[in-house]
Amino acid sequence: MINITDKTQCTGCTACYNICGHHAISMLYDEYGQIYPRVNHDLCTNCGLCEKVCPLLHQERIPKDDNLDTLDVKAVYNKDEAIRQRSTSGGVFTLLAEYVISKGGIVCAAKFDEHYHIHHSFFDSLSDIDPYRGSKYAQSDLSDVFRQIKNYLNERPVLFVGTPCQVGGLKSFLMKDYDNLYTCDFICMSISSGKMWDEYVEDYQKRHQINRVFFKDKRVGWHKGEWRMLIEDENGEHLCRGLDNLFFYTYITHLSARPSCFNCIFRQCRHISDVTIADCWGIETLYPEFDDNKGCTSFIIQSEKGGVLFDSLVDKTESIEFGIHNVSIYNRHINIQPNIPNYYWQFLSDYKIKGFIKAANNSLRYDKTSFLTNFFKCFIKRISKHLL
Ligand SMILES: Cc1cc2nc3c(=O)[nH]c(=O)nc-3n(C[C@H](O)[C@H](O)[C@H](O)COP(=O)(O)OP(=O)(O)OC[C@H]3O[C@@H](n4cnc5c(N)ncnc54)[C@H](O)[C@@H]3O)c2cc1C
Ligand code: SF4
Ligand code: SF4
Ligand code: SF4
Repeated sequence: MINITDKTQCTGCTACYNICGHHAISMLYDEYGQIYPRVNHDLCTNCGLCEKVCPLLHQERIPKDDNLDTLDVKAVYNKDEAIRQRSTSGGVFTLLAEYVISKGGIVCAAKFDEHYHIHHSFFDSLSDIDPYRGSKYAQSDLSDVFRQIKNYLNERPVLFVGTPCQVGGLKSFLMKDYDNLYTCDFICMSISSGKMWDEYVEDYQKRHQINRVFFKDKRVGWHKGEWRMLIEDENGEHLCRGLDNLFFYTYITHLSARPSCFNCIFRQCRHISDVTIADCWGIETLYPEFDDNKGCTSFIIQSEKGGVLFDSLVDKTESIEFGIHNVSIYNRHINIQPNIPNYYWQFLSDYKIKGFIKAANNSLRYDKTSFLTNFFKCFIKRISKHLL
């Protein structure tokens, strides 16, 4: 049976939880705010299925990261300006959903519920798509969606969108290929704890009623340093730079990241999904004539079905060839692991005792102090150079 002894060796993908027919596995948060499977030994029959489907115990199922020149990569954006504005990069997810729904299918992707808890859910009408658009930078609650997807696959096409480890978990859980399953993941820097996000929201809601959250608002621009995080409450819209929002600060610095993200086995150019989407960083330098600073998606075709998906959106997009080497150069999280941040362990021990808000504020203070110390050290070095 599943027994997590090393927290870096579980992504929380829920494959083990979903496969256990004896309901012996629960997904529970640990004291550091990350979700892991826990086995009830009274219910477990030792059938071994949970270990069989765990992607981290079967890394041989992950495709080899070779022959990269054969990967077809496009830079794409949706011609519909309004949709692009409501999406994180080029608004391509909407077109994938449109295609699968037009074939009688259903889409499973991440949205906020009424309490801003992030979870995966299903829709099969385009009028319901809006809450699913846009990146949410905390781990979504998958619950039993893998089991539901398996049921749907007996009747109709399904598009699943998730992190590379979620797609890996789904494919492992299903144990066989389905012609009517389409999977889309993204280049994934890291994911923050869903519980920490919930605590951030709960604290905010003590003072103000949140009406809308958008992690990457592009009205100022899409380029790095230009987009803003948006929170709308009863006082109107608040746009702030990522680092000026307490939650976003912990995401961008990886303080609230899941331990598996620092040594992610899915971090490579070849993915197990049909298509990998991402911000097409580098487009502004390499093809400035194609870039209008409103958002552009790198579309990495990972399988034959990925090619079919690309063909389906050609008429509704502008696209050019981009190349996997450009993605590796300008979007380093595709194959370079993030470093564990300076105050990670301190943050976690603060979190365990004091919760998210206090722990994050403490780290922010340490960061500001060390920034000022370094600034003064550099200043004194420069002055002494001039004096000597
Ligand atoms: C946690 C996270 C980390 C990312 N890291 C990078 C990165 O390092 N570099 C990079 O270039 N791009 C990264 N992306 C991808 C990028 O932000 C865009 O999602 C992508 O470019 C697609 O944009 P779009 O405009 O085509 O689609 P959008 O309309 O923005 O659609 C986004 C899709 O992602 C799904 N989604 C959103 N949040 C989650 C979540 N928490 N878990 C699972 N699925 C989710 C949505 O349901 C939707 O299907 C990341 C996304 C997430 C969610
Ligand atoms: S060994 Fe079988 S019964 Fe026990 S937890 Fe795993 S899947 Fe469930
Ligand atoms: S199947 Fe997924 S959730 Fe279960 S132990 Fe493996 S990585 Fe963790
Ligand atoms: S970085 Fe890797 S382990 Fe972390 S959420 Fe993304 S795919 Fe999963």
